[in-house]
Formats: sequence, structure tokens, C-alpha cells
Amino acid sequence: MRYLQGNQQDDHAMHHHYPDFDDHALITSRYDAHSGLSALIAIHNDTRGPAIGGCRIIDYQSFDSAMTDVLRLSRGMTYKTAIAGIPYGGGKAVIIADPARDKTTGLLEAFGDFVESLGGRYITSFDSGTTLADIETIATRTSFAAGTLAEAGNASGTTAQGIYHCMRAAADIVHGSPDLSGMTVAVQGVGNVGARLADRLARDGVLLIVADANEARAREVADSLGAKWVAADRIDRTTAHIFAPCALGAVLSTKTIPDLSAQIVVGGANNQLATPDCDELLRRHGILYCPDYLANAGGIIDLHYQRSAWNAEAVETHVASLADTFVDVAERACAQGRGTAAVADEIAQERFARPRTSA
Ligand code: NAD
Repeated sequence: MRYLQGNQQDDHAMHHHYPDFDDHALITSRYDAHSGLSALIAIHNDTRGPAIGGCRIIDYQSFDSAMTDVLRLSRGMTYKTAIAGIPYGGGKAVIIADPARDKTTGLLEAFGDFVESLGGRYITSFDSGTTLADIETIATRTSFAAGTLAEAGNASGTTAQGIYHCMRAAADIVHGSPDLSGMTVAVQGVGNVGARLADRLARDGVLLIVADANEARAREVADSLGAKWVAADRIDRTTAHIFAPCALGAVLSTKTIPDLSAQIVVGGANNQLATPDCDELLRRHGILYCPDYLANAGGIIDLHYQRSAWNAEAVETHVASLADTFVDVAERACAQGRGTAAVADEIAQERFARPRTSA
């Protein structure tokens, strides 16, 4: 008994060693020599329902970097599911492997067994390094895998739609009209989400400037939409009404914010603020920022309907409501003289702190 208690304390101390540990509900690992699986699953909070979040396959340089990633990302999912108003908590999985070299059917099946062993406490889906086909393989071993419903299509389209609604709401707040026609939007990263967003905006008569680390990709999207393109390292300083980060995190920093020309930032990338104080810096520069996990919650809403009862109209209505939440966040932030990210965090925290029955 003393040995067990000692171990529990050590475990607790071990988790505290990671700055991103935030009273997570469950952190569990699996190593399986036969398949080569080395994976971590973290459940941050499951007050509102089972934890949901994608599975990354990345060749992490160390166990610590994999742990840091899974802790940080699972926490983010708790905020996202709460702000999106869906009955799930936040979770995430990471597989420590090179997706190009190590991703075998056996590895994915072993991961499916790992997910299944948690009995539904965690529901997995795609992320970096995992594809729709991979989720289908994982789903042969567990019923707790989401995102493969054929009629739903690619959830990135729903993510882009949520960003679009939030952008219109931002334009309404700043310019007095949600009409985006004639406005200039700078899109950073035209992958799954950014290209779909650019396409939607082009149909509204938006003047688009796009950039991508893959320059050929930027040119291709620009040509197809009659848009301009600029080098990836210039997009955040390009003159535009709206900046839409749709590539990486940490793009809003003490270095980049003073040079932003846009008065509005709404995009799909996760973790856009380099540090929490950037929220206040954006406010002081008079820039209206839509918190990233609110702007990009369309995809997780899509997965929720894929798992319950698919209804394209209900998805669209739910995703459009993200804009109402954003207006609420912006109004509270303005009235209280606070940043929008701090206010969104507070709203999310109020929701996931409540017992499940009253959520
Ligand atoms: P993706 O990999 O399809 O696209 C990202 C694009 O950004 C790529 O074309 C890449 O070349 C480009 N890029 C990378 N670094 C860049 C840089 N420095 N400057 C400009 N472009 C750069 O990814 P995605 O699925 O479109 O996701 C984009 C972001 O949105 C990610 O942060 C992701 O975590 C987040 N997100 C995606 C979804 C979804 O539904 N796909 C949902 C929520 C959040």
C-alpha cells in the first residue's frame, strides 16, 4: 500500500513537471513492441461528456515534447467543445512515429485497441499525420473514432464555414455591416481550411491576398480565384482589412502585432497567440481578434453531428451560431476593457466547470 501511494505521488509529481499539465482528468500511455505503437492519450476535462480530439502521428524528438503536445492540445479541445456548445470534453492522442515511415495497418489497429480500452472516455479523429483512411483503419478496432461518415464530406469545409460566419460578425462590429464584398482579406496558408475559406470569400466579392509556405500552392489557389499572392513571410504585414491565419500557431506575437495592418483577425489556425499577453496587446492596438478555438470550432461541430444524427442543415445552423457567441464575447470584452481571448476562456470555463446534467 505504501508502495502504491508512493508511486501515485511520483506520478503526480511527474505530471507537474510539465508546465502544460492543468489538472488533466487522465493521462495514459501504451507501448506495444509487436506493432511498434508508442502512444499517449490525454483527457483534459470530461465534465460535459466524453473527451474528443484528433490523433497526431509525429516523429517527436523526445517523450517530453510528445507529452507537452498532448497536454496542451487536449486542454485546447476542452475550451473548443465548451465554446461550441457540444456535449463533449477535451482529449487528444499522439503517436510517436514518423507517419511516412512507420504508419502501418498494425500500428493503427493497435492504436484502435488502445482507444477501445478506454471504453468510450476518449473519441479519436484526424490531425497532423492521420488521414481519413487511417481513421477508417482505426475504426475497425474501436467504435470511438469520428469523421468517416461519407455523406458529411471533409470537415475542413465546415471549419471554413465557421470562420466565414465569424468574419462577417467581425465586419459588422467594426464596419457596421457583415457584407464582406470589396474588403481585402489576407489568408495565411491555403491548405484544407485556408483554400476552402478563400473560395467562400471569393464568391462574396472579397479581394483576396493569399500566401503559403508552398509557393506553388499559393500561386495555384490565387490563379483559380483571381486573387493576388505574396511571399509567406510578408502576408501578416500585407495591407488588408482582415487577416486570416490558417497555417501555424503563434503568429500573433509582440513582434508581429504592431506591424499588422488589419483591424480584424479571424482564422482557422490553432493557438494563434504566441503568449497570453498578446490578447491584451491586440486590444490596445484596436484589433478585433476572434479567439482561434471559437473561429475554428466548425470541424468539431461537424464531428458531433456525424456521431449523433447527421443533418446538414442542423450543422449549418449550429456553425452559424459561432458568430453569435463571438458577438457576445466581443461585447463583453469591450464593456469590460479586456481581450476577447480572456473573455472566451472565461465563458468556456463556466461551461465545463458545471456538472454534466446542467450543461
Ligand atoms: P493543412 O496542412 O492542410 O494546411 C496548412 C497550409 O499552411 C499548408 O498549405 C502549408 O503549406 C501552409 N503553411 C505552413 N507554414 C506556413 C507559413 N509559415 N506561412 C504560410 N503558409 C504556411 O492544414 P489545415 O487542415 O488547413 O489546418 C490549418 C490550421 O487550422 C492548423 O493550425 C490546424 O490545426 C487548424 N485547424 C484545422 C481544422 C480542420 O478542419 N482542418 C480544424 C480546426 C483547426
